[in-house]
Amino acid sequence: MRRNRRAKIVATVGPASGSPEMLEQLFLSGVDTFRLNFSHGTHEDHARVHAAIRALESKVGRPIGILQDLQGPKIRVGTIKDGKITVTAGEKVRFVLQGVDGDSLSIPLPHPEIFDAVTPGDDLLIDDGRIRVRVTGVGSDFIDANIITGGIISNRKGVNVPSAVLNLSPLTTKDRADLAFGLELGVDWVALSFVQKPGDVIEALSLIGGRAGVMSKIEKPAALEHIDDIIRLSGAIMVARGDLGVEIPHQDVPGRQKELIKSCRLAGKPVIVATQMLDSMVAAPTPTRAEASDVATAIYDGADAVMLSAESASGQYPREAVEMMSRIIESTERHKMYRSIIDASHPGEEETAPHAVAAAAADLAASLHAAAIVAFTSSGTTAARIARKRPSVPLLAITPHQSVARQLSLLWGAHSVLSEDISTYEEMVDKAAKTALSEGFAKQADSIVVVAGIPFKEAGTTNNLRVVQID
Ligand code: PEP
Repeated sequence: MRRNRRAKIVATVGPASGSPEMLEQLFLSGVDTFRLNFSHGTHEDHARVHAAIRALESKVGRPIGILQDLQGPKIRVGTIKDGKITVTAGEKVRFVLQGVDGDSLSIPLPHPEIFDAVTPGDDLLIDDGRIRVRVTGVGSDFIDANIITGGIISNRKGVNVPSAVLNLSPLTTKDRADLAFGLELGVDWVALSFVQKPGDVIEALSLIGGRAGVMSKIEKPAALEHIDDIIRLSGAIMVARGDLGVEIPHQDVPGRQKELIKSCRLAGKPVIVATQMLDSMVAAPTPTRAEASDVATAIYDGADAVMLSAESASGQYPREAVEMMSRIIESTERHKMYRSIIDASHPGEEETAPHAVAAAAADLAASLHAAAIVAFTSSGTTAARIARKRPSVPLLAITPHQSVARQLSLLWGAHSVLSEDISTYEEMVDKAAKTALSEGFAKQADSIVVVAGIPFKEAGTTNNLRVVQID
């Protein structure tokens, strides 16, 4: 089976979608990669869903990606006397490191790393940014602050500290246990929450050791300051607009989204746009016009994938949300302005032979009206280099590695096929033609453009281009 669109769909699995029947419906409706959100659910729940997706994969005969999303550190206020307090703009409050019950004078904040990192003038945001306080003084176990935007602070509400880099690993004890569990299950991607600096990605890479791709969720201003290094180190990027929209002003999120997509396209790394894309479909069978437009904007920007969160995890209309997302992508990609917009935002060539070969393949295929570009890809890199060009011609990615075939279910335009390794040039030509025919991408007498790295089996080389006429 083959999708009628190039951008991919990631759907979060939850109580509304975890049954084998619903997973199958969602796949058939358009999901390319399923996200297991380790902020919720037990290991048993995730293992059950994982097994159901792998069974579905065998049934449909297509690689399906599984993304494990780690919770990351959660910063919260402690227990407050009477469960909650109301604070008003202009009032003064004190956060205390130690403390039994907080009251309007002292709110417990059991996170020493915050006391080490903030300075007067920094803002703390509480409850997804609904309440804003400005720090006026800091000691080793207290923070004094003025309330800028008031509201109700209740027990264990989340706290964000956008202007400071906190001395915290993105992997908590829970994350490390979840990660070991996910790798044992065999997830294809691991998404890291709370990435602040390149060293956070390096830490995850060394723990994961190539057993899954590492996806950095961009949700903190500190990460934006080191974005090129973070993209270079990561296998993929998620524009995590939920947390990002708390840490930076709402009005800056769309521009950051465009910058991140552009930087990822330049680097040839898949980028997912996430959060609230069709949010009203949690409770309604159709989205708002603005939500439809939001999905289309990500597609015009050239995102590799768009993601559903609560819409597919806990909403009332998971299948309808996937169908709607798929229809919006298809319609956008067919629009007469799509090609000119996507080409205009192309990031330019990297001056390396592999990139030049990949770009030439896309141009050649377009000028010859080839039926497909067929890429032999061991690590997925050759396919990513071609996808980076957002070619107008379909892209077939043939790989001998199941994990790569599954990981490519995130990559723009890639239709991945698992196949035994090749060792000769003749085999390459033969396999490319046969696969293009059997996967429904070409018919007799069509031309295809074949891209490979020679010597075969050596990852990272993209140095060979061949036009093949199918006979
Ligand atoms: C986000 O913040 O947008 C996001 C996807 O992360 P999470 O849902 O895990 O908070």
